Amino acid sequence: MPERSASTLLSRALHLRCPRCGEDRLFIGWFRMHERCSGCQLKYERSPGYFLGSTYINYGLTSLTMSAAYLILHFGYKVPKEWLAPPLAAYCVLWPLFWFRYARSLFLAFDCYFDDPDLNSDEESSDSEI
Ligand SMILES: [Zn+2]
Repeated sequence: MPERSASTLLSRALHLRCPRCGEDRLFIGWFRMHERCSGCQLKYERSPGYFLGSTYINYGLTSLTMSAAYLILHFGYKVPKEWLAPPLAAYCVLWPLFWFRYARSLFLAFDCYFDDPDLNSDEESSDSEI
C-alpha cells in the first residue's frame, strides 16, 4: 500500500497531482480535469456532483481572506471603506477562479484521506465495468 499520510496528500494536492499515486496531473487546462489517473486509474470524480464540496473550500477561503484583508486595512491602516470596496469586490471574483483547481485538488485529497478509495468496494466494481 503506497504511503498516503496527510502531509503527502497535502503536498500532492498543492502540486495538483493524483492523491493516490502522485504521478499524473489532475488538470488538462485551467478548468478541465482528466477523468482518471494514468498511473493508478483512480477516477477523480467519484460520483456526479462530487466536486460540489470543493466549492465550500473555495468559498470559505475567499470569504476568510477577504474579511481579514478588510479588517486589517480598514481598522489597522485606516483605509476608507469606499476605497476598499472595488478592489475587494474584484478579489472576490478573481480569487475563486485562480483557486478553483487547488480547491478541487484539496477536496479530492481530503476525501481520499478520510474515505480511502482502495477500501471502497463500490468504486472497484465500477472500475471493472469499463
Ligand atoms: Zn494516480
